[in-house]
Amino acid sequence: MAEITFLGTCCAWPMPRLGCRCEICKSDDERDRRLRSSLLLQHEGKNLLVDISPDFHWQAMKHKITSIDKIFITHAHQDHIGGLDALNEIFILNRKPIELYTTKKIYRLIKKQFPWMFQKKIKFKEMKKMDIDGLEVDFVPVKHSTETIGFIFKLDGKKFVYIPDCCGVEKDKIMNPDVLAIESTKGFDHRQSHGHWPVQKSIQLAGDINARTTYLTHVGHYLKHKDLKRKVEKMGKFSVAYDGMELEI
Ligand SMILES: [Zn+2]
Ligand SMILES: [Zn+2]
Ligand SMILES: [Zn+2]
Repeated sequence: MAEITFLGTCCAWPMPRLGCRCEICKSDDERDRRLRSSLLLQHEGKNLLVDISPDFHWQAMKHKITSIDKIFITHAHQDHIGGLDALNEIFILNRKPIELYTTKKIYRLIKKQFPWMFQKKIKFKEMKKMDIDGLEVDFVPVKHSTETIGFIFKLDGKKFVYIPDCCGVEKDKIMNPDVLAIESTKGFDHRQSHGHWPVQKSIQLAGDINARTTYLTHVGHYLKHKDLKRKVEKMGKFSVAYDGMELEI
């Protein structure tokens, strides 16, 4: 069994937005307070992180994360890698290099921004399908505004797919997931940009790949948690992730 914690569920900027007076930003529902997207998977005593957001320090404080064994990176946008420098604290506590898995191209983009972290604190490993004490981790190329991948975790016959930024993806590898966590940066009446598609395309994808349950994440600034949840629940087995939400696979 692996435990999954959504450390952050926001798109590029946290919510509430600075100075914004809209209903979402004025909401007193804790689930409308979102930090940037990242996941913690805990399996057989190991801490695995997917992306490391600029909010990592506070996410680690809240969830008492003092060691990390491996980090998986979806792409080199700031909201997914901006916390890398905060790994200094983890390195000081544990004195062992942290393995970072992604493609070579994404690694080169990350290294340009954080060259000092790759001297001894972080060790790059090219992402390939792997087994971590029975947890299978694989990846799928994703269409976005820069080279991007999504991750597929399989354990005891269960499958979890995580795609936080997306405007297209090959379906073969991600068919029939028990849980899909997929982006919802843009609202129902927003146009597709070169990096993100509107949320109904995520919902359509979930149907196309026969996802048993789908959680929207990387949530944009267009509906309150409760309203987005109510709206997508009417469409089938959909819900909306929130910071601190836990799942098991
Ligand atoms: Zn993002
Ligand atoms: Zn607002
Ligand atoms: Zn992105």
